[in-house]
Amino acid sequence: MPAEVVCSGCGRLLRGPDALAGQTGLCPACQTPNRFSENAESAASQPPAPHRGGLMLGLGLVGLLVCNLFGPVVWAMAASDLRAMTAGQMDPEGQGLTRAGYILGILGTVLLVLFVISMAVLGFYVVSMIEEMSTAVGA
Ligand SMILES: [Zn+2]
Repeated sequence: MPAEVVCSGCGRLLRGPDALAGQTGLCPACQTPNRFSENAESAASQPPAPHRGGLMLGLGLVGLLVCNLFGPVVWAMAASDLRAMTAGQMDPEGQGLTRAGYILGILGTVLLVLFVISMAVLGFYVVSMIEEMSTAVGA
């Protein structure tokens, strides 16, 4: 990766050997001093991050079938990955898998909510049954 800088005087792209990174050099065309970037690699447009579609699908299945507590986590992770793909920051190749993980995450979350509600209802019945029994004993 050679050192690169866009000349501030004439807009030319100047290239130099790696040794020039972080150094100041004169533009051959207009003699404007320009500082070569120390990490020319990050100045270039970055390739999108690899997708995590397989991971999202796997976690989504775990959230749906094994432990519903994973549901909201997968939902949130897949949603942020889908946003990154839309913004071009992530490889859109895995969009289908990520979307599948996203949907499974939502389903897992729904099951988690239903589980919590049924536990609350069950707990309410148990408590009222115990109260009833103790009242019967007391009377
Ligand atoms: Zn120049």
